Amino acid sequence: MDCHSNHSVFLRSTGALACWCDAGSKLTLQRFDPEVDYSRDVVFGPVFGAIRRKLRADQMPFPRQCQDCMVLACGAPFDGGWEERKEISVFQVESSIACILECPGCMTLADRRKTYGRPWHLEVEIFEKYLSDFRNDGVTIRTIDFQGHGEPLLNRDIWTMVRLAKSYFPQTTVSICTAAHGSYAPDQVLSGIDRMLFSIDGIDQASFEPNRVRGNFAKAYGYMKDFCLGARAEGRQIETVWKYILFDCNNRPEQLLRAQEMALEAGVGELHFVNTQLGLKSSRIYGLEDIPRLPGLPEDALKITVSGYLSNFHDVMHSVDKARFALMEAQVGEAVAHLSFAANMIRRRFECVEPGDSLPVDYEVLIHEVLDLCDDPLVGPGPREAIRGGFHLVLGKLTLDMAEAKERIVAWKAEETERLLDRLARESGQDRMVFARQLAGAGGAPAPDPADRLERGAQQLRRQARDIHRLASLLEQKPWLTPPAPAPDTVAGLGSGLSSGPGSGRTPGLGSEGTPEGTPAPDAAAPPRGLAHALKRRAGSRVLRVLRKAAGAR
Ligand code: SF4
Ligand code: SF4
Repeated sequence: MDCHSNHSVFLRSTGALACWCDAGSKLTLQRFDPEVDYSRDVVFGPVFGAIRRKLRADQMPFPRQCQDCMVLACGAPFDGGWEERKEISVFQVESSIACILECPGCMTLADRRKTYGRPWHLEVEIFEKYLSDFRNDGVTIRTIDFQGHGEPLLNRDIWTMVRLAKSYFPQTTVSICTAAHGSYAPDQVLSGIDRMLFSIDGIDQASFEPNRVRGNFAKAYGYMKDFCLGARAEGRQIETVWKYILFDCNNRPEQLLRAQEMALEAGVGELHFVNTQLGLKSSRIYGLEDIPRLPGLPEDALKITVSGYLSNFHDVMHSVDKARFALMEAQVGEAVAHLSFAANMIRRRFECVEPGDSLPVDYEVLIHEVLDLCDDPLVGPGPREAIRGGFHLVLGKLTLDMAEAKERIVAWKAEETERLLDRLARESGQDRMVFARQLAGAGGAPAPDPADRLERGAQQLRRQARDIHRLASLLEQKPWLTPPAPAPDTVAGLGSGLSSGPGSGRTPGLGSEGTPEGTPAPDAAAPPRGLAHALKRRAGSRVLRVLRKAAGAR
């Protein structure tokens, strides 16, 4: 798995480094200490090294926080390249924790005072210490981005910090994301800033204020316009972006068209619409095709883009898969962590759901699967209740029953098996049937199908989980690159990757062939060749039948 703390760094206004800007933001990784080298001792040293080791081993670095963290990429492979290249993707700098607005998805003023208090602003000397440590250690930084849980422009030294950032890292993109309640001065566009994002969610006070509580639309729009026209007058090539978060109060077609007219009037280069699950309700997710375009608007006059700050469906699905496999291996702690992550992401995704709303069917499937896995006797009553409790807003909206949900996952997993077989065939240059047959051989004789639909689906899913694990391990190990001597009943030695010995496709922490660690794997007491061959052929025809059925169902 992977997450932002592998490639990015979040500096809080206190001078401490936190674990990125989501659920980990309250987790201090390193307090400020002038004696510490923030590159060698921290980001490319033991502190972030411990996080990377866990991610590489497919484990959550801080289970309590990671379970609720939207940047945990459960389905992504760990990317070791950032550390090898000594590269930081985003150095996010919270120049201030103060803010005069009170957006519903952010901290309240009372919280801000209680949790943080003074000093509200990052000191320039602290920021420079980080820049100097990174530069002295030969680090590359792609972006230095001033934003956090407060308004960056409230730090009176913000423009000094921008100049410092550019002087230490001239090739790095330096950006600020602001609620735009500042006053424009020409030295701002001369500071070296490369990118300026103005967070203004609406086209007038009525559409803007529900989210930007205590904000003043005219002031925000005026600042954006002054800055964009000022940059133009000074001949500076600054990327200017109007960031417009979509809610029910500001997403009507006529409002989206008016925003385009106003963007042109302000001279802003890009109008960027954002789908979010934070704060107010937004009843639909927008793609670029859903945004009406101003008639006659030339493509190069205004760039229009759409992005999402939403939990990722595939990461949730991978987490459910990992929970299932962990339960099969009796790794209860890991299973509960993954079930909690899945439940938290689904809860956050549908936090604003209202009585008349329905759920996307794919999410219904995942909710049923989490509920079913929670019923495993290995999951204790405490975690089970906590996970179930997270679904209280959505349980009444389920239209599928659990057996239907199970059948849908079985079909998804059959497709995933096929995709893996195709990839294996492509990467190894072998026929995909070679792998399908070996898969069947490794699975042993099939158990009789139970009559109950739900149990039948669950049983099938457990078989698929093992198959997918074997194929994914094989893809990771790539045994065809260092082929052993061909075994008599395998093709070109590839069979060893699907058999069960250590080093033959195991993922750390997972017992080979689904047996607990230390248990001899089936091949350790392999039957005589003739019998093994017969068993493989019998099981092979079962997997081929399942694969054909899945192909036919699509
Ligand atoms: S997933 Fe975990 S380690 Fe990564 S940023 Fe979030 S809390 Fe930190
Ligand atoms: S403007 Fe930004 S920092 Fe201020 S309350 Fe809103 S989201 Fe939070």
